[in-house]
Amino acid sequence: MIGDDEYSISKGYSWLEQNYSHVQWQRSVWNRYNLSRHNFNQWIIQHGRLLTLKRLGTFGITQQSLCFLCGDNNETHQHLFHECIYVERCYQDLYQWLDVPSQFKGVTHPEKMLRKRGCSDFVRLVLISLIVALHYNIWNARNVCRLEGYVMQPVIQVKCIQRESKLRLMTISKGKLKRVDKQWCKQRVLM
Ligand SMILES: [Zn+2]
Repeated sequence: MIGDDEYSISKGYSWLEQNYSHVQWQRSVWNRYNLSRHNFNQWIIQHGRLLTLKRLGTFGITQQSLCFLCGDNNETHQHLFHECIYVERCYQDLYQWLDVPSQFKGVTHPEKMLRKRGCSDFVRLVLISLIVALHYNIWNARNVCRLEGYVMQPVIQVKCIQRESKLRLMTISKGKLKRVDKQWCKQRVLM
């Protein structure tokens, strides 16, 4: 696109596409159990496009760099979703509630993490939607901290996710679930 080449629509698309890595994000983003406002946030995360302080700094918009949530390290995608102590606590609380092994921390691609788990498609999709919801809430908590100066407790984040997911499941499933899936939901107070 830059140079003397003549412009064409196909060249334009090629130029746009080269800015994005080819990741398998579809199953996380286009999941019927996701809340719609979580989808866009997940898409942005999986393309590494959140406006973290690291990215804002490269644009010359800010000189701040420390993570709002923990204050220990520079705020990057890697830090927010793989290293931040606050986020780790959120994952721990979520996984404890869901009875998921705690070694699965810091996942930007939950569909990969859950691929080998011996659970039904329904449970897998619900688990993905809950992790996607957590990602949205983490970014929201970061923005609240940035603008209002306080950090929401991880346990409150998980309670919010549980309440919203329960409503979503009731709306979509309308009670038409296999017995084993219904039991799984009841054990996690999702029904
Ligand atoms: Zn942090």
